[in-house]
Amino acid sequence: MTTERVKCLIIGSGPAGYTAAIYASRANLSPVMYEGLQPGGQLTTTTDVENFPGYPQGVSGTQMMEDMRAQAARFGADIRFGIATHADLKAAPYKITIDGSTVIEAETVIIATGATAKYLGLQDEQKYAGMGVSACATCDGFFYRKKVVAVVGGGDTACEEAIYLAGLASKVYLIVRKPYLRASKIMQERVMQHEKIEVLFETNTVGLFGENGVEGVNLVKRWEQPDEERYSLAIDGFFLAIGHHPNSDIFKEYIDTDEAGYIVTEGSSPCTKVPGVFAAGDVADPHYKQAITAAASGCKAAIEAERYLAEKGLM
Ligand code: NDP
Repeated sequence: MTTERVKCLIIGSGPAGYTAAIYASRANLSPVMYEGLQPGGQLTTTTDVENFPGYPQGVSGTQMMEDMRAQAARFGADIRFGIATHADLKAAPYKITIDGSTVIEAETVIIATGATAKYLGLQDEQKYAGMGVSACATCDGFFYRKKVVAVVGGGDTACEEAIYLAGLASKVYLIVRKPYLRASKIMQERVMQHEKIEVLFETNTVGLFGENGVEGVNLVKRWEQPDEERYSLAIDGFFLAIGHHPNSDIFKEYIDTDEAGYIVTEGSSPCTKVPGVFAAGDVADPHYKQAITAAASGCKAAIEAERYLAEKGLM
């Protein structure tokens, strides 16, 4: 194990992590950032971001993350590949193990590890992983040009993915377990009006089938109701868009999380109950989960880290 001492360690590289890196660099905290499994975070798997102020024409999620990364690097943030595999937050300096081989001893830690896509828990999802099952339409949609796909979920992500896929596929089924969509009104309208998208309300997925990959999905309409109806549809691709799991597992021994695993911070601040350890972005946000709110919380976390270091005389 190699050991390195830093003033400010940022774990994760979505809008929260990069914004924290921009602010921490400009405050002379010499931040070291580990980008995690998916550099750029979830936004690199979305299509256009239309609601981030300052982009009147919208911007691709990947481009926005590249821009934020370049901005952080310009001010001197030390951005590295690597995944935090273990955390010891008993006492400062906090010890974070990277890739099981390097220990970073950090006076302050900003946790910006985001959230990971959820699956339904069907055995068939594993069976057909990489063979027709995906949790990322923008990553895998290209393979389904002029084919038939299904998207599961009724939130903004599901609607966004359905619309994206409808630009490639010949037909998109949106499988929604409730009799209504949870997504924002504008996304609901876009989905309902799209000629290639058919919304299957009150429908649950119970399995997938196919010889060498997904060829169809088994569905149940009005699950366990007297008029329950079981049927199958021929599809080529099956996309999950049913929400996310916060990536907080390695920190749970030391900081509070809610029942879903989201890190609990003090009020609207990024402060956890461990002094000098802050949480920003989706890993601590069960409510808003927007690029702009993640960026804002990354800014707050860096400002809090700076204040903490100044109070401790560690600047
Ligand atoms: P949400 O939690 O909002 O929605 C999840 C959807 O998946 C719900 O329709 C839910 O159904 C359904 N679901 C959950 N579990 C299952 C299951 N086991 N079987 C079938 N369906 C299931 O997650 P999203 O990822 O869509 O959005 C998260 C947040 O991010 C939201 O606040 C959203 O507004 C925001 N967002 C904003 C975007 C934007 O502004 N451009 C883009 C994408 C997301 P049910 O309703 O029955 O619980």
